[in-house]
Amino acid sequence: MSKLTFPILQRLADGQFHSGEALAQHFNVSRATIFNALAHAQSLGITLFSVRGRGYKLPHPVVLLDHAQVLQSIGEQREWFHVVILDEVASTNTYLMQQAAKGAAHVTCVAAHMQTQGKGRRGRTWVSQLGASLTFSLLWRFQCGASALSGLSLAVGVALIRTFHQLGLTEVQLKWPNDVLVNGKKLAGILIELQGDMEGPSAAVIGVGINLNLPKHVLNSIDQPATDVASLRDTPISPSEMLGLALKHISDCLQQFEQQGFLGLRDEWLRHHAYQHQAVRMLMPNGVETQGTVKGIAEDGILLVETAFGLQRFSAGEISLRSAS
Ligand code: ATP
Repeated sequence: MSKLTFPILQRLADGQFHSGEALAQHFNVSRATIFNALAHAQSLGITLFSVRGRGYKLPHPVVLLDHAQVLQSIGEQREWFHVVILDEVASTNTYLMQQAAKGAAHVTCVAAHMQTQGKGRRGRTWVSQLGASLTFSLLWRFQCGASALSGLSLAVGVALIRTFHQLGLTEVQLKWPNDVLVNGKKLAGILIELQGDMEGPSAAVIGVGINLNLPKHVLNSIDQPATDVASLRDTPISPSEMLGLALKHISDCLQQFEQQGFLGLRDEWLRHHAYQHQAVRMLMPNGVETQGTVKGIAEDGILLVETAFGLQRFSAGEISLRSAS
């Protein structure tokens, strides 16, 4: 890892060529140091063009996170948040879980320009790219125990719906328990990890990944239908603005969740439910598949499905839901 890699990438963010000599002069280092710092960027999977006589260039201009803009976008509640922007991290969730165990403050947010080993549920992978994805985690400390947090990922889903609505993306829907879809394609995912006692107090690390403008070949490489914000609207959204809005809405929803549980957010969740009254397949971790029709969501976030065995209740973590059509 080179301390210069991300400062150099900031200069390349305009998508123009920058000569090795000009970069070396700017940072007051040798051209070999610039070369090595950018070799590190390439080892992270960042595509860079290097042309003899012209220098280095990113394939497209990119907009990176900016601390001041994130705080501005949070609005009035900004002083409450501790926002940390990392250049590079394996997983914002794993990092923040470690920080939480060491006593990190309530409402700490860690976002990363580059997440190299993003996680989904049960060891799955979350794909992201420099300047093309928003990946962050938020630490929220609860007085109650982990046993009372069953509807938490649904509460966060409502917060993301509000965020997308505020940005004019009104066609977003929720897939139980933790995804945001548009026309059946995944736009954003939520991954929640818990610490603490079942009876309390407890801490949740709420990870969110949002696709902003992933290159087509990356979207197509994901093993289920996926989409990004750029495919849905003409004008780009700055990642800092989106992060600030998401943090504001997540904190609003979590305060409501603390007072009323998921029940207070259930109607809003159901208004955006992708599979309400629809035929679905439920995949169990052991590979067994069941079919049924979704009836709704219980007060505690449990999925209610009418199957051949009657009305069944499924909790998050037990199954993966898929459309039957
Ligand atoms: P579940 O219904 O169990 O939540 P899921 O397949 O949506 O199932 P998650 O753990 O929520 O699983 O998310 C990880 C999965 O999401 C990956 O296995 C992959 O299929 C998909 N995925 C990975 N990266 C992205 C991305 N950037 N955009 C959309 N989908 C992605």
